[in-house]
Amino acid sequence: MTPPVSEKEKIDKYTEFVGSGLGRELARRLGLPQPAILRRYDPQAPLVEGPILVVGPGVGADAVATVLLGWGQDVRRHASPKEKLGAIVAVLDELAHPDQLSAPVREIGSSLRELARNARIVTISRPAQAGDVPEVAAARHAVDGIVRSLAKELRSGATANGVLLAGDLPADAPSAMASLRFFLSGRSAFVDGQFLAAGDAGTRAEQDWARPLDGRVAVVTGAARGIGAAIARTLARDGAKVVVVDVPAAGDRLADVANEIRGTALQLDITATEAGARILDHAASRHGRLDIVVHNAGITRDKLLANMDAARWDSVIVVNIAAQLRMNQAFLASSHFADSPRIISVSSTSGIAGNRGQTNYAASKAGVIGMVRATAPLLAAAGGTVNAVAPGFIETEMTAKIPFATREVARRLNSLQQGGTPGDVAEVIAFFASGAAAGVTGNVLRVCGQNLVGQ
Ligand code: NAD
Repeated sequence: MTPPVSEKEKIDKYTEFVGSGLGRELARRLGLPQPAILRRYDPQAPLVEGPILVVGPGVGADAVATVLLGWGQDVRRHASPKEKLGAIVAVLDELAHPDQLSAPVREIGSSLRELARNARIVTISRPAQAGDVPEVAAARHAVDGIVRSLAKELRSGATANGVLLAGDLPADAPSAMASLRFFLSGRSAFVDGQFLAAGDAGTRAEQDWARPLDGRVAVVTGAARGIGAAIARTLARDGAKVVVVDVPAAGDRLADVANEIRGTALQLDITATEAGARILDHAASRHGRLDIVVHNAGITRDKLLANMDAARWDSVIVVNIAAQLRMNQAFLASSHFADSPRIISVSSTSGIAGNRGQTNYAASKAGVIGMVRATAPLLAAAGGTVNAVAPGFIETEMTAKIPFATREVARRLNSLQQGGTPGDVAEVIAFFASGAAAGVTGNVLRVCGQNLVGQ
């Protein structure tokens, strides 16, 4: 029987078991993985659970502390012994030599034992760039190694991620603060060991944290089930009017999703030549505009390349990347898609690290990453952004079909020792779609709990 679309997302049974007193104790004694029950976004819940320690010597750290105070957070500039911390924010925007890392990193290290469950560590720094003197580039890129290693050391659902400031942006630039807020919040529950590049948002950044998509019109492809249905629900919760798209064969479930979120359904095969025009017509006739496009529909047709036939190869390329390229041409040419438009594409960690038996799928998902980077400048003139999410192991109908032993290994092989939920992917997409993320473009953000395989 088809489960109701509003059914609460399930975490795997093992994670549920070791989340309780007895299970936790048993797992500890036997040295088994101890995945935490992650703190997921709840609009009513506090941003973080406990005070935020801001580390860093410069004016940037003071400015970030001021923003956090403005958000009503309990901010510390020095750790107090034995006080449980909800988060540590390290502002490292003035690094000029690796020698300067020692003091802030040791300050972080000495507070790690005081982290609350599901705490957050977020760095704010600058990316190393061509033209940097070697000492500056070394110091800046060292932050990469710190964050990725720390993320692997943290336990109890805590994560470490970083914000990278473009050009001369100040540490408290709106897009940097939006990215910081995303990493602190439960929206980033399954994002670990990753970086977001924050660019100049000009005057476009909006900060409606409660209903960040109020009045925006979104389309989500492949929304009849799985990750797509979760994206549609999350965008609707955040205030968007949502058009859900899927193939006619999935029409009943698509209608269920549309009804649940008070959106509209459009039965459409995205590989049709006129798919982009059909979506624009549908959105424009009902809402007069289209603001957010989420390219989620995707398929797999796995085979080792030695056994790959043309049909398997071609169908994956056509659905997963060629259709997106063609639809984007239609969207970019439309006056209905011109007011700070957003495109978010669903890639995959297979498109970053590669996967045996998935040359076709990995080609299509790596292609998505190439497309996103090349499309960012094309959208900039209209104040638009385009980003990709790259999910790792997500608990869906697709992954439920993987044989038990393989599935169990796949879902534990990340720093958070569990699979993500469709909602975890959806929250990241909702962040990219939000007004506050106006300066955040051209990113590929992995939603994989810091999968230990690949980059
Ligand atoms: P799913 O198979 O459950 O859902 C995909 C939806 O896309 C289905 O409803 C399907 O009918 C629709 N679709 C397929 N072809 C279409 C077409 N031509 N036109 C319109 N709709 C079409 O998949 P999912 O697990 O929810 O995955 C969603 C996206 O996330 C995909 O792009 C997938 O590659 C990606 N992804 C998933 C995982 C995971 O672990 N589940 C991991 C990485 C990436």
